[in-house]
Amino acid sequence: MIRINDNFHRLAPTYLFTEVARRLKAYATANPDVDIIRMGIGDVTCPICPAAVEAMKKAADDQSDPSTFHGYGPEQGYEWLRRAIAEGDYMSRGVNVDIDEIFVSDGAKSDTGNIGDIISTECRVAVTDPVYPVYVDTNVMAGRAGTPTPDGCWSRISYLPCIAENAFIPALPTDSPDVIYLCYPNNPTGTTLTRDELARWVEYARAHGSLILFDSAYEAYITSPDVPHSIYEIEGAREVAIEFRSFSKTAGFTGLRCGYTVVPKELKGVAEDGTIVSLNSLWLRRQSTKFNGASYIIQRAAEALYTPEGHRQVADTIAYYMRNARILREGLEQMGLHVWGGIDAPYIWLRTPDSMSSWEFFDFLLNHCHVAGTPGSGFGPSGEGYFRLTAFGRYEDTVRAVERMRQLSVNE
Ligand SMILES: *Cc1c(COP(=O)(O)O)cnc(C)c1O
Repeated sequence: MIRINDNFHRLAPTYLFTEVARRLKAYATANPDVDIIRMGIGDVTCPICPAAVEAMKKAADDQSDPSTFHGYGPEQGYEWLRRAIAEGDYMSRGVNVDIDEIFVSDGAKSDTGNIGDIISTECRVAVTDPVYPVYVDTNVMAGRAGTPTPDGCWSRISYLPCIAENAFIPALPTDSPDVIYLCYPNNPTGTTLTRDELARWVEYARAHGSLILFDSAYEAYITSPDVPHSIYEIEGAREVAIEFRSFSKTAGFTGLRCGYTVVPKELKGVAEDGTIVSLNSLWLRRQSTKFNGASYIIQRAAEALYTPEGHRQVADTIAYYMRNARILREGLEQMGLHVWGGIDAPYIWLRTPDSMSSWEFFDFLLNHCHVAGTPGSGFGPSGEGYFRLTAFGRYEDTVRAVERMRQLSVNE
């Protein structure tokens, strides 16, 4: 029989969303007439904006004519899209990113998961806790995580707690990790780091030779002026940080699949024999070997987001979700719950009332309000006692969910 990669065997089954689905199904079967409002999964509900849809139709027509047909494209993405990204997302904020530092892909999940290919399996990894599970699980698959510990962690991964007591601002590590994953605005907590707070991480990485993997999938939701949209707004970040972006939450591309990663040319790593190597060259080599580029039609859709109409339409969708976020946040606050997020991110993170565990509150909310959310403990040990609701639902459902929750009587 074929020997498997034991790192996969060590991974626990994907418990969180399977368990949520299992409990929802059981509840729906037992209560067939109940209308459950789902505010759990991170998927969006608004359709693709007209500018991007028109661009896809035109691109589909291109594919039907030999003179405009596009086969394999550049692995890094078409230059017209990378130019639009460099100008629209960076130059417009006074940040210089060269088009050969941009790598277009099928999304940020792939890129944050695949980036580990170019670094040693010896590297020590740090994550904030609670955390987007992809960062941890892909390091387990690569053999970088060590062994599971009784408290639900991994022996070779450092966990940086983000809890109410530290206002969800992780303390700098004490053990000089080689790689630090930061996701801001944060999924699942909806919290952010200000420019000064992020500057401390860049300074730390520079002093300790660490690499920051900065996931800014929710950049488009930022409203606070002191929250940076890109880590490269911080001086010195080009020498220590890779940035991941996605059109999924920005423009509803969760089903179309497109994102990009920025690997600055200043970023260097060291080989076993002491040679200094550019991470940009390694990532180019990795992508051109294992990836054949995002589809032409989808890249045309992404390009359309940078036109004035595309920009306006995307802003409208984000405003729609952020109205939901405000309704959720204000409604829950008025009930006396402790709530974070929802200002620069489409997630609301709340402390479970009456000292309920995350899963107890999941069942409580489902039984009493027929509202489904996500237990915070599913994102890591520091998520215990917290709960996530998303603003990605329909407006009417969000309003109804808050009305139902208002009927609850809870004690802090
Ligand atoms: C949704 C999400 C992504 C985006 O993933 P895609 O593969 O681009 O759809 C990346 N990071 C975080 C933290 C997310 O929540």
